[in-house]
Amino acid sequence: MPAMQSQRQNYIGGKWGGAASGRTFSVHSPATGEELEHVPDAGPQDAARAIEAAHRVFPEWSKLAAPERATFLFKARDLMLERKEALARILTAEQGKPLYEARGEIAYAAAFFTWFAEESKRVYGETIPATVPHKRLMVIKQPVGVVAAITPWNFPAAMVTRKIAPALAAGCTVVLKPAEQTPLTAIALFKIFEEVGFPAGVANLITTQDPRGVGREFLENPLVRMIAFTGSTEVGKLLMRGAAEQVKRVSLELGGHAPFIVFDDADLDKAVVGAMASKFRNMGQTCICANRIYVHESVLEAFTAKLVEQVEQLKLGNGLEEGVQVGPLIDEQGFKKVCTHVEDAVAKGARVLTGGQPRTDGPFAQGRFFSPTVLTDIRKGMRILEEETFGPVAPLIAFRDEAEVIQAANDTPYGLAAYFFSQNVSRCIRVAEQLEYGIIGVNDGMPAVPQAPFGGFKESGVGREGGREGIEEFLEVKFISLGL
Ligand code: NAP
Repeated sequence: MPAMQSQRQNYIGGKWGGAASGRTFSVHSPATGEELEHVPDAGPQDAARAIEAAHRVFPEWSKLAAPERATFLFKARDLMLERKEALARILTAEQGKPLYEARGEIAYAAAFFTWFAEESKRVYGETIPATVPHKRLMVIKQPVGVVAAITPWNFPAAMVTRKIAPALAAGCTVVLKPAEQTPLTAIALFKIFEEVGFPAGVANLITTQDPRGVGREFLENPLVRMIAFTGSTEVGKLLMRGAAEQVKRVSLELGGHAPFIVFDDADLDKAVVGAMASKFRNMGQTCICANRIYVHESVLEAFTAKLVEQVEQLKLGNGLEEGVQVGPLIDEQGFKKVCTHVEDAVAKGARVLTGGQPRTDGPFAQGRFFSPTVLTDIRKGMRILEEETFGPVAPLIAFRDEAEVIQAANDTPYGLAAYFFSQNVSRCIRVAEQLEYGIIGVNDGMPAVPQAPFGGFKESGVGREGGREGIEEFLEVKFISLGL
């Protein structure tokens, strides 16, 4: 089938093709272990070709009027929505999240095209009053140039469009390297970009299992002017160090360790809904998911009972089956991390209220499933309190007063998202202002939207994606002083 043929290849300079080495690697279902597809294993040489293609077309693409570029973006949005079901199935097959979440992700991913197509028309400049009568001072904004984008596996569609949409809207051209666990969604998106008819080289795709080699090419090739990365803090730091050599611009969306606080004046039912959405969506594999749940001691018992009741109703299984709410973990490494965090907590005195074990029976035998878990009696010194777990485990910690819980919430090198529930409006403002995080959900467990800035303080990153700020990352500021 010719369509499938092109779907298994890289997209460079408007053409589908394999890696120069001819090598491929296979993509597996995290639910069944079954091999889904082979994709090219590109190397630095392929990355260089993609960068050159992006560089070649940059003058043509960046010179288009913003509304013309927006037309391409709207078309990409339309095709994504038209193919939502097919894209969602590809996404779930390789990533594991339940189908209804995958459908939601495709809609969310498409919305970045809408938002940034509109924002491209509002890249305003400025005029500045001069100090002498014979001068005029102007500020204009221009695209940075070729962008190398690197994305993770947990949102295989949204992390791609959250970078590509603003980059293309700003007039930049892009080379994308998706995560090796989830290249098929990226390939399906590029199939759509081909249909949209972007000029050849505007958006390029290389799949690889040599992230270091390709990453090095991105860092060392002088034609790349910006690295846009979402992933772990560890790799983010490595890229930031490497980018320093040529002072390339970086935009880094890194790890999180979100506190989720339930105050004594919270609406507990709303807090449980928020905790369920924040903690168990995508099997707890989101950078903004609640990782530490602090509950005021006076409501701990009531909140715990309600939460455990909800968690016990979650349906675990293959995300492709309708009705499943919690799928498999992405891979062996992720699975081991979750097991280790739970074992470590239990060994140090935590109590398992529900779950607490991997599932390997019957239909779970070939995947990496972990029962949705609630732990209590969590104390300092447990790994789960210090690191991102990235799994369906809710650790509950009792607290007494506001100052103490804010201090505990901020006591981490991470600063991506924080949540709290309270019905006292003064407390809502006071606490939101004191939390050292880039995103605060107040009585809201799902704050991410395309029109608002997404990004972290401290070691959670540099820059913002989405919102008005999202396009600025891809723009240079140019000051023009005109003598009359
Ligand atoms: P990761 O290991 O850092 O991988 C992310 C991406 O970086 C993948 O495409 C990976 O390629 C690539 N990569 C790995 N080593 C590299 C290197 N030396 N040079 C260049 N690229 C390299 O992270 P992950 O475990 O897949 O993703 C989970 C992390 O992402 C979590 O920490 C999560 O919090 C974070 N995240 C953050 C946000 C946010 O917006 N802040 C959103 C989603 C996820 P391979 O796949 O080939 O290894």
